[in-house]
Amino acid sequence: MSWHAPRNLDEALALLAERPGLVPFAGGTDLMVGRQTPACGRQYLSLARLTVLRGVRETASGVAIGALTTMTEIGCHPYVCRDLPALAASARATGAIAIQNRATLAGNIMNGSPAADNPPALLAYGAEVVLMSAAGSRRVPYEDFHGGYKQTVCRPGEILTEILVPVPPPGARHYFRKVGARRAQAISKVSLAALLVGRPGSWECVRFGFASVAPIPILARTLAVAITGSDRGLPDDAELAIALSRDIMPRDDIRSTADYRRRVAMNLVREALAPWTRQGGSNASA
Ligand SMILES: Cc1cc2nc3c(=O)[nH]c(=O)nc-3n(C[C@H](O)[C@H](O)[C@H](O)COP(=O)(O)OP(=O)(O)OC[C@H]3O[C@@H](n4cnc5c(N)ncnc54)[C@H](O)[C@@H]3O)c2cc1C
Repeated sequence: MSWHAPRNLDEALALLAERPGLVPFAGGTDLMVGRQTPACGRQYLSLARLTVLRGVRETASGVAIGALTTMTEIGCHPYVCRDLPALAASARATGAIAIQNRATLAGNIMNGSPAADNPPALLAYGAEVVLMSAAGSRRVPYEDFHGGYKQTVCRPGEILTEILVPVPPPGARHYFRKVGARRAQAISKVSLAALLVGRPGSWECVRFGFASVAPIPILARTLAVAITGSDRGLPDDAELAIALSRDIMPRDDIRSTADYRRRVAMNLVREALAPWTRQGGSNASA
């Protein structure tokens, strides 16, 4: 095993340009338990000293979250709790406290797990990721980031430096729910984050991000079209279920069955839409 610990971002990018096979190492909570353990003789690039990649800042249009920002920092950050409560909730639902103290948002995305907890909120909020190499940087909408199971559009020589999240308008409904075998420290069977702005018949924004119902985290586009396209209030449950079935591809595995996942996904959609299906319901945040 060899280990490189550049002192700053320029040094890190120069090293990656020279050796694009270096594996970026952030919190290590996936790398240390995965198949690519140090014993496998891989070469690692520690990001630990790149302090410029840590922290949350406000931008003109939203919130920028540095790649190395941990779940603990995200889960209690005042900007995230105020403007992006579904992301704060997903960070707080990621593993236990010890994991949250090390696990980074970029690591959660780059690991590419379809069951990761934070991708649904990033999909719902319409986040973008910034990828940087020695040649420059590019912004990629997060909804286009995962090409297939455990695959991303990140190229050799690039690292993910920042996640940019637009702030939804006041009055938006922010929803997050993770369903696992127990309330904490479980890999999700299904999770959903939703951002809903407007009301039936005049929606401004309808976005549902799911985990654990397809080979990659997915944005439920057909479901959103069914909801925004209906000019007579919300579609009924049967119509919603048909639309949802076109977006998700759940399967049986060690944690659950495809059928259970389908039912739970539909229940979560109903729960996200509850303020508009219950008379007098409120537009509450997650
Ligand atoms: C006991 C345990 C419980 C867990 N529970 C949960 C859970 O409940 N929910 C959940 O979603 N996850 C869970 N995880 C998985 C893990 O903690 C998260 O995915 C975490 O966010 C990974 O971040 P990290 O910084 O530790 O990534 P690392 O392990 O350092 O890296 C993960 C991957 O991302 C790459 N990478 C990291 N940073 C960058 C970057 N800036 N640019 C390019 N590539 C990068 C690495 O090369 C590697 O491929 C758990 C893990 C453990 C061990």
